Amino acid sequence: MYQPRGKVWGGSSVLNAMIYIRGNAEDFNRWEAEGAEGWSYADCLPYFQKAQCHELGGDDYRGGDGHLHVSRGKSGIPLHEAFVKAGQEAGYPYTADCNGYQQEGVGPFEMTINKGKRWSTSQAYLRPALKRSNLSVKSRALSTRILMEGNRAVGVEYEQKGQTWTARANKEVILSGGAINSPQLLLLSGIGPEEHLRSVGIEPQVNLPGVGENLQDHLELQVQHKCKEPITLYQAQWKFPHIMVGIGLKWFLTQTGWGAGCHMDTGGFIRTFPNKKQPDIQWHFLPSALYDHGRKPAPYHAFQVHTGAQQALSRGTIRLKTANPHDHPLIDPNYFSHPQDMIDMVQCIKLTREICHQPALAKYSDGEIQPGPDCDTDEKIAHFIKTMCDTAYHPSCTCKMGTDDMSVVDNQGWVHETSNLRVVDASIMPSITNGNLNAPTTMIAEKCADRIRGLSPLPQSTAPVWKPAHPEKQRDGVAQVSTV
Ligand SMILES: Cc1cc2nc3c(=O)[nH]c(=O)nc-3n(C[C@H](O)[C@H](O)[C@H](O)COP(=O)(O)OP(=O)(O)OC[C@H]3O[C@@H](n4cnc5c(N)ncnc54)[C@H](O)[C@@H]3O)c2cc1C
Repeated sequence: MYQPRGKVWGGSSVLNAMIYIRGNAEDFNRWEAEGAEGWSYADCLPYFQKAQCHELGGDDYRGGDGHLHVSRGKSGIPLHEAFVKAGQEAGYPYTADCNGYQQEGVGPFEMTINKGKRWSTSQAYLRPALKRSNLSVKSRALSTRILMEGNRAVGVEYEQKGQTWTARANKEVILSGGAINSPQLLLLSGIGPEEHLRSVGIEPQVNLPGVGENLQDHLELQVQHKCKEPITLYQAQWKFPHIMVGIGLKWFLTQTGWGAGCHMDTGGFIRTFPNKKQPDIQWHFLPSALYDHGRKPAPYHAFQVHTGAQQALSRGTIRLKTANPHDHPLIDPNYFSHPQDMIDMVQCIKLTREICHQPALAKYSDGEIQPGPDCDTDEKIAHFIKTMCDTAYHPSCTCKMGTDDMSVVDNQGWVHETSNLRVVDASIMPSITNGNLNAPTTMIAEKCADRIRGLSPLPQSTAPVWKPAHPEKQRDGVAQVSTV
């Protein structure tokens, strides 16, 4: 399976879809219950706010003066309104801000975009700091090993322009290589499960069995419909060069128009089944139908609803193929190893089909493209899922924070059984959050940054959190057109 990530300043935030989703309050309360003391929602919300500069200004949930610019979609394509209306017709609540008081429901989505430009973590944090005298950045460099003296990290070894260099640390070494590369670098440095390290010829320095374990990800599929009206992004492709040039020129001159957004202006969060504590399905609505990781558009006007279960129970691994740092690690997401995950994905497809049948969206539909009308039993849907589903690019949790035997870092990012060594990135999530991962990863970085600087954590938030009126049901309302 294609598993891209950004090998660039700002990492994957430079090539991601820019959707800004914090996660559900219960995700962070679960983190704390899983052993990450001080990481409840009340502890994390102040850091989401600290990181954020929302175009609508700050309030009890939003931040108004942080580094990470966040804005709402402005494409103006009427299908977005139809999707949100269809969600309400299906019996789900409208949520004006899925990153605020109420995640559950359908409504506008937000993006890491500032005045029409992508706002990567490099734009937000690294570039503004470049002029500091205490910052030195090495580009086109590959860290190959952490230098250890006993259990103490004293620096890193890296390669640049064919030469090997070392950088010594006065205070501490911080890994932020992401959920695939941070465990890879720990393993290359002899920090990880002893048996695995020996199997690839690495002498273990620190036996930490959890390194590279607990890999979690989101899988995703699209329910696609042909669209009766020419109101989609179909024309935004190079077979219509005059339109593409127009989009480019408009963006170049004014940073507005179709070039200024990611086009998933709306979406939603719903529950798979009754009695769920939190929503566990995410929807992204796109006024276009795309294939092959967004690289091939459908040859007609169409729209799609991305759907995926957010709380899969399968767990994968990151392992070394060899002791050579240039070799890619072995990524085994182990999808669907837990039977509940297929049951949840089948339910995702059914509930997504149902929203497409509500009057507000159905009036635009010229027939379902995929899964397709013949895909009419659970077995056929499961087959469709197995053949068509793909990663939503959210690998995480491979150096999980906690106190149990399989945890890798403590609640300040310190790697267990070592000194002077931290990990700060998506790998330290104890478990995956409900939504895209850039916002919670940035929150993790802000929260750890205070600890690195020796500051006390910000005071807990007291902002309330929405609860469903009927947690015993799958949704609070009733669908106008019921197909499930
Ligand atoms: C195609 C795609 C689309 C996505 N869409 C969204 C989205 O719309 N919204 C969202 O919230 N999330 C999205 N994500 C996920 C999100 O971008 C990531 O979860 C997030 O960037 C993770 O941050 P990180 O710091 O943990 O790792 P990364 O962003 O992967 O950063 C790791 C950095 O470490 C560097 N590095 C790694 N190993 C080494 C080494 N050995 N030596 C030197 N440098 C090294 C890398 O070059 C990179 O710069 C998407 C991801 C992808 C790939």
